[in-house]
Amino acid sequence: MPDIHAIGIDLGTTRSAVSHVNADGITTMLPNGYEDIFTPSIVLFRDEERIVGREAERRLEFETANIAVEPKRDMGDSYYRRTIQEKQIPPEVIQACILRSLRNDVIERLGKNYHAVVTVPAYFDESRRTATGNAAKMADLNLLDIVNEPTAAALAFGERLGYLKESGEPNVEMNILVYDLGGGTFDVTIVRLADNLIETIATDGDMQLGGADWDSRMADLLRRKFADAGFELSDDDANNMRLRRLAIDAKHTLSSRDQATVRMEIDGRNIATTVLRSEFEACSRDLVERTAFTTRQVMSAAKVGWSDIGRVLLVGGATRMPMIQELLTSTSGIPVDTSVNPDEAVARGAAIYAQYRLARKGVATFARELTITNVNSHSLGIEGINMATMRKENSHVIPRNSPLPCVVNRKFVTKMADQKSVVIKVLEGEGKTSDGCIPLGRAVLRNLPPGLPAGHSIHVEYRYDINGRLAVRGHIPGYGDQAVVELQRTRALSDTRLAAWKTVVCQDGGFNDFHDALNELLVDDPFADSDPVLFEDVSQVPLRAKSAEPAIDFGAPLVASEILKSDQPTEKSSWNLEPELPRNAAPAAKAKVTPRATTRRKKKSGLGLYILGHIIASAIGLVVGYYLLVLIRPELDFLNLFK
Ligand code: ADP
Ligand code: MG
Repeated sequence: MPDIHAIGIDLGTTRSAVSHVNADGITTMLPNGYEDIFTPSIVLFRDEERIVGREAERRLEFETANIAVEPKRDMGDSYYRRTIQEKQIPPEVIQACILRSLRNDVIERLGKNYHAVVTVPAYFDESRRTATGNAAKMADLNLLDIVNEPTAAALAFGERLGYLKESGEPNVEMNILVYDLGGGTFDVTIVRLADNLIETIATDGDMQLGGADWDSRMADLLRRKFADAGFELSDDDANNMRLRRLAIDAKHTLSSRDQATVRMEIDGRNIATTVLRSEFEACSRDLVERTAFTTRQVMSAAKVGWSDIGRVLLVGGATRMPMIQELLTSTSGIPVDTSVNPDEAVARGAAIYAQYRLARKGVATFARELTITNVNSHSLGIEGINMATMRKENSHVIPRNSPLPCVVNRKFVTKMADQKSVVIKVLEGEGKTSDGCIPLGRAVLRNLPPGLPAGHSIHVEYRYDINGRLAVRGHIPGYGDQAVVELQRTRALSDTRLAAWKTVVCQDGGFNDFHDALNELLVDDPFADSDPVLFEDVSQVPLRAKSAEPAIDFGAPLVASEILKSDQPTEKSSWNLEPELPRNAAPAAKAKVTPRATTRRKKKSGLGLYILGHIIASAIGLVVGYYLLVLIRPELDFLNLFK
């Protein structure tokens, strides 16, 4: 049987790249149809054809309205941020078009006998990972697995520096800090290499920070410079696109030179301006500081100092900016490691991981045996009612940075006697209330045994697999295991819609095919046939995940590990779970006054009385004192009260 080709796909925000393990067991980059290693993650939707990559990028200024850029930034949202031909498209469909094109390139070169691993930022949450998996399904890609980008980068680094043995496992022991600044996302991760092990200790990142933010700063700087020279640029799409393209070129030039000259045609005249590297650095200092902040956070979460870090590994094109390398060298005292090409590390590592997975399945020749562990990048919780306050709160079940895979059991209690059902609402994020979190979905335990008293135990199990996929299970001790529940996601596309999109994406046609399908698929709401959430209106939740902000609130990994190590369920009997409301039931009309609020109010009114008492007593004291004084010394009656 011929070998199955192990393929690694770095599905980047700005550029994607494909690597494979060649016949000698070494990773090589796989060029696309234009003989380019990188395929811009850009899709042009023409009526009759769909164009992905470089050609689409060339048309950016001219066919702006029909071009989708950086769909990765919107993954997890309902729709891509702009309409294409006045239609709203889910971002995973656009990602699917890119994956489809990469898949076609792979088949062109290697045939259909391949299996691919696609990478995602470690900071991607559940919904974004699911959306990425769905994009692969729509593209009909033979998807083996999804792996975190820093894990892939660490593997590539291990391969290049000879830190992987012949069989594939690392032969050194060290912590490495993977600093990945790409086009639209920033990830920083502490990875531990040890014998036979690649372990992610902690990860954090910023979904809304990347090279594109430096492009914007440069574009603003150029606009100001042109304005200072007397040339105001109107704020239209075409101008902005041109300015952005010039800004990117200037940014790249400043990575190797101290200054760059930018020429632009304004009002028919060719205008030139010069921008200094120092000026660019001054206007983007806060962005650099944002990455430094996140780096400090992840180090404190991993409980490591710079002396514990053996290597600082640079990943992502934007790390070529000298300001980034200076930041890391000056703060870490370690020379940054650029031994692996920062643009290729992720794709190469993904191919190594694909090979490893194939070896585990026993189908590849070059077996690599190593254990890879990940952590979850966002806490997973459950909405319950805290009995002390009677408020709905987010109870963390799996804290962030917990090693995966993991299983956590928690005990909850029913709210009322003879409760018929229990709703398990799964929350993702660090907030203490549901408002500060993303509702991932819900699971309902129905048909509870009749006659259960209030406060009866319900065991809830969260099972988080190595790929960041969650399974939720609830059961009632003493009544068998009858209540196993599937998590119904609030945001994922349904299977029916997924299959319909797959047909459209795999036609490799233009927007005309798309158009018909869109009318059918996007009737009202692409998620219409997913289950509604009963307690709150999900449409009110902002589309952009709040957890995309750099996280400050950390669940310390060691604490997490300890919880997870102890197999005993953590008792939390002061929490209870709500029964399921009838469908379309209105959310509770008014928040109940909590005992704590009542006490506070009582305390407040007690304080008022106390002060009032003091005032009255002081006034009586004054009057009595004055009367006694006037009795003794009548001439001091200056108020003439007793004359
Ligand atoms: P992603 O993985 O998000 O697609 P990449 O790792 O491909 O991102 O990096 C793309 C980013 O790197 C872009 O913002 C690009 O402008 C930037 N970049 C690439 N080369 C350079 C360079 N020489 N100097 C500065 N930035 C660069
Ligand atoms: Mg990248």
